[in-house]
Amino acid sequence: MTRFAFEHTYGRLPDRFFARVSPTPVASPRLIRLNEALATDLQLDAASLLSPEGAEIFAGNRIPDEAEPIAIAYAGHQFGQFVPQLGDGRAILLGELLDRRGIRRDVQLKGAGRTPFSRRGDGRATLGPVLREYLVSEAMAALGIPTTRALAAVVTGEMVPRETFLPGAVLTRVASSHIRIGTFQFFAARGDVEGLRALADHVIARHYPEAADKASPYLALLDAVIMALAALVAQWMSVGFIHGVMNTDNMSVAGETIDYGPCAFMDTYDPETVFSSIDHGGRYAYNNQAPIARWNLARLAETLLPLIADDQQQALPMAQKSIGTFDAHFEAAYLAAMRRKLGLFTQQEEDKALIKTLFATMARNGADFTLTFRALSQAAASQDAEDRLRSLFKDPADCDAWIAGWRQRLAQEPQDPMERQQAMRRVNPAYIPRNHRVEAVIAAAIGQNDFSPFEKLLSIVTDPYSDQPDFSHYMEPPAAHERVLQTFCGT
Ligand code: AMP
Ligand code: MG
Ligand code: MG
Repeated sequence: MTRFAFEHTYGRLPDRFFARVSPTPVASPRLIRLNEALATDLQLDAASLLSPEGAEIFAGNRIPDEAEPIAIAYAGHQFGQFVPQLGDGRAILLGELLDRRGIRRDVQLKGAGRTPFSRRGDGRATLGPVLREYLVSEAMAALGIPTTRALAAVVTGEMVPRETFLPGAVLTRVASSHIRIGTFQFFAARGDVEGLRALADHVIARHYPEAADKASPYLALLDAVIMALAALVAQWMSVGFIHGVMNTDNMSVAGETIDYGPCAFMDTYDPETVFSSIDHGGRYAYNNQAPIARWNLARLAETLLPLIADDQQQALPMAQKSIGTFDAHFEAAYLAAMRRKLGLFTQQEEDKALIKTLFATMARNGADFTLTFRALSQAAASQDAEDRLRSLFKDPADCDAWIAGWRQRLAQEPQDPMERQQAMRRVNPAYIPRNHRVEAVIAAAIGQNDFSPFEKLLSIVTDPYSDQPDFSHYMEPPAAHERVLQTFCGT
């Protein structure tokens, strides 16, 4: 049997942190996809995982010898409402592997059957959301954005009851850890300060070892998570990504994008874009993501108060001060990302206005987010490419003043136009997993049992910065009849 050299640092935490539970075997697993590069990075034998044994392992039918399967306990604010117990209701952690760089990574089966945290759920995942998560998480990784990864996808050979019966599937998810803000809230809600301390110490040792040497390690932990999530959301914003369900249980304290449910990349730029079918108030709209991250971090800060100081009156202002730094961290990360997208190598006060005006012009003219920045990259070294850029705006003349201002700004820097263009092409993707493409891939897989569109889209979006001339139609936004306005929760 293929060796998984699992370790279990989370599994060595106190019993109340998790439940020991085995995956529920499925009827007839079939491997849809193995991420061979990731398998190799995890020091696994990719070739042997392509055999039928791989499908058995990734479906949860065969448990690797060194696995110690657990479901992790957590709580969370869902759309602002606190739920004291959520937990892995359909995800089972097999263990941790050290990758080739020596980084510890969780390997988890998502959709592997019921756990003590399933509540009324069936513990299963269906093929559509599994393919969506595979595509979008791997695209995010290729874009250089911190994210959980997809190691494998299998179909189970079982039908799962949803609104209709849908093919069951299991995604093998790899993460720096699966510890969420909601994991801290689980212990805080129970007044379990010893549990909180054990969790915080684990997170410090695992993700933020430098915090251990600070005068106040738990405050340093909070600061580190604030910086990580501020940087993460800035990166989402820089590619037009909308997470869709930023509940506190879906926010990784390691700073990775986690829980790809009703997520999507926007096509036309509109800061109020919401895709999720259940997000009626627009709580998790594109433009609300930074304020929501800050709100979520304030919930994390609350859980840490008893660790920060014995006297809560003393701890509170310290934590508040840390939360108060979020906006500046976010703004700095956002401006840095946007300057790179605009091809700016230096910083000037007026850059903020330049960025704001571009977005306002895009919004007014229904410009496509991704195409605009890609065209801008071309225009940096070519006057001709400017027509392409202008054509993305309903009223092309409306962006002329902005383009002139941008060119003036560029002229203040010594960079050679080709060098600038190259740098811009490395941060402004040509290819993102556009929603209508993702939906079409899912429809072909479910309707015709045809996974070739999935394979093709995956290969395109995992090479997002190359031109790929044979596939340039994958750059295009949806035609009116292809537009997908809603995404549904990952069920
Ligand atoms: P999510 O909306 O994906 O963040 O999930 C919220 C909670 O619902 C988590 O505790 C999940 O484990 C749980 N959950 C989601 N789908 C299922 C399912 N099919 N069976 C059991 N639990 C589920
Ligand atoms: Mg979740
Ligand atoms: Mg989910």
